[in-house]
Amino acid sequence: MDNPDNLFRQPSRRDVLGCGLACGAAGVFCAARSAVAQQDTAGTGALAGPKLQGVARHRAMFFEKLQENKVKCVLCPRECEVADVERGYCGVRENQGGEYQTLVYGALCSANVDPIEKKPLFHYLPGTTAFSIATAGCNMECKFCQNWQISQFRPEQVDSRLVTPEKLVAACKRYRSPTIAYTYSEPVIFYEYMHDTAAAAREQGIGSVMISNGYINEKPLRELCHHLTGVKIDFKAFTEEFYRDQCSGHLKPVLAALEVLKDVGIWFELVVLIIPTLNDSPDEIKQMSGWVLEHLGPDVPMHFTRFHPTYRIKNLPRTPIGTLDRCRQIALVAGVHYVYAGNVPMHPGENTYCHNCKAELIRRVGFRVADNKIKNGKCPKCNTAIPGVWSQEQALAFKPNSRV
Ligand code: SF4
Repeated sequence: MDNPDNLFRQPSRRDVLGCGLACGAAGVFCAARSAVAQQDTAGTGALAGPKLQGVARHRAMFFEKLQENKVKCVLCPRECEVADVERGYCGVRENQGGEYQTLVYGALCSANVDPIEKKPLFHYLPGTTAFSIATAGCNMECKFCQNWQISQFRPEQVDSRLVTPEKLVAACKRYRSPTIAYTYSEPVIFYEYMHDTAAAAREQGIGSVMISNGYINEKPLRELCHHLTGVKIDFKAFTEEFYRDQCSGHLKPVLAALEVLKDVGIWFELVVLIIPTLNDSPDEIKQMSGWVLEHLGPDVPMHFTRFHPTYRIKNLPRTPIGTLDRCRQIALVAGVHYVYAGNVPMHPGENTYCHNCKAELIRRVGFRVADNKIKNGKCPKCNTAIPGVWSQEQALAFKPNSRV
């Protein structure tokens, strides 16, 4: 996950210079409680909705009714069975008399205009911004979460403002962002809000990208892809042990979601946060890259990013840059066409090179695109088509190969 900068503050010198990458990923951000308490100094009145008292209820889209007023949530692979007046694992969904409800519909706790490179999406409208938002909650508990102050709390514990999908889209237009990014916490748990906002955004010519852990069931994912224009998945590791011990999740459902994205045909990129000793073995990276190649193809970019000690993993060091180089080499040798090193500003591994002729196509400095030579989606030197989304028209033209 990337970091929620302040909801309503002026950009700092760090933001303006675009050099917040390394520090930003290490946890320089405002917790939602303090962020939302501040004024809308960035100049948009559109987000100055009322401070939310309590929760923001809305009927959940994916659940089954069981006996005795119980429900089964079928949004994510946990498939929580929830008794009346109880909540599911993520803490943001509640059973009220046999009707399942989300408690965070419009409960915005973080918003910021970020470079799309910060998500990171490197083959999606490079050099543009993404209007980035979140609510409280998550369906995993990653010990290395950079945004635990909003992801690991219940909605009542995080300051939020009520912002309808329409108001959110209006704010995005005011900032002239071509894209809304659902990010920071885990957008799967605010699915209905994301779904309706993405649908409204499309009608206004704005795309939507989901920045997610990929812990979502097939049916809701396919339905959502009718409205999204891009996805980034945190592919946290390639072992069940890592998912179980570090994230309280499972690997297989994430692999299944990735195959759904491939089948749907939406543009997506993968980020692997490399944590020393936990998921950095050459064997694991080789197996992961081989799986990506076999199941997703060579054109899905992989970003190997640098870990910084945070939250409940403070006893491990930052990832050595040499380790990122090694991971990148392994994936390239395996045959993945576009492999990046992340959270290492000025590293050559942050640039995009044509997979055919190796010409430098996009040069990045931190979050900033210093040069972009791609013309009409092609390498200007050898005319090879570069996979990605290179215009807003292309983004909005996306329609899923659907079997919803
Ligand atoms: S979305 Fe929340 S309530 Fe639903 S299955 Fe997942 S963790 Fe459980």
